[in-house]
Amino acid sequence: MPELTEQAILNDSVRMDLDTRFCFRCGPDRACFNRCCGDVTIVLSPYDVLRLKKALKIESSEFLEKYALTMRSRERQVPVVLLRMNESDRRCPFVGESGCGVYGHRPWPCRMYPLGMAEPKGPNAATNRFYFMVEEELCQGRRGGKERTVREWIEDQQLEAYDQMQGQFLELMSHAGWDAPAPLSPEKLDMYFMALYDLDRFRRFVFNTRFLEIFNVDEERAAAIAGDDEELLEFGIDWLAFSLFGEKRMKLRNPPPPAGPGTETWPHAGA
Ligand code: SF4
Ligand code: SF4
Repeated sequence: MPELTEQAILNDSVRMDLDTRFCFRCGPDRACFNRCCGDVTIVLSPYDVLRLKKALKIESSEFLEKYALTMRSRERQVPVVLLRMNESDRRCPFVGESGCGVYGHRPWPCRMYPLGMAEPKGPNAATNRFYFMVEEELCQGRRGGKERTVREWIEDQQLEAYDQMQGQFLELMSHAGWDAPAPLSPEKLDMYFMALYDLDRFRRFVFNTRFLEIFNVDEERAAAIAGDDEELLEFGIDWLAFSLFGEKRMKLRNPPPPAGPGTETWPHAGA
């Protein structure tokens, strides 16, 4: 099988759209059962991390420390989070004899498999989106099984919530401000990582520092982000769009109160 590089996907994949039909069946009776849950690179989106730490009932910092690897993206040098495979056997830490131990909260790539999705770069990336089969020799799922469309697969795998949150993240990631050559400062890199991936730390940052003295967040939204991780992630994306690119998604109190001794501040647009 050819290596699944970005170039190979763009050049060699048979492009599928939402109405393309395909057959697939997975289950414990397949000889390959669970073999796909090892020695695999799974990039976690911010929403994947949110769902997995919820499944495990642990804080985001603990999840990131125990179950994730953080790399830097090649071009922008921003953090990219991967699911950490076991060191001993290269298996996913969540796979057991009866299958995925976090099935209801499994990450986007695990839900989507055997399909992949690509958006060729350009001004209309979302409209150029296509789907393709991830052809792996070990996977017997393509031998028979129910025929359905890509659209039906996406519905069956309950990918709508993932796609909605991913859409907001991708909008941030495709912002024209990234074209500026200067890399993010260490402080802004930490903001980026905290607001997208380390949500429990971000919540403490919002409520335990001068953040709400500097930013004018209405009571309803403050209550929502206090108790709801999805709301907090959306808020974090807005804050990053403001702080990194000056998008008018946050309101500053006018004038911000002076910092007292020992109070924590944070860089914002123009800082
Ligand atoms: S390899 Fe394919 S058929 Fe086998 S368990 Fe994984 S997804 Fe299912
Ligand atoms: S999260 Fe679940 S489905 Fe995904 S690799 Fe791990 S065990 Fe397999």
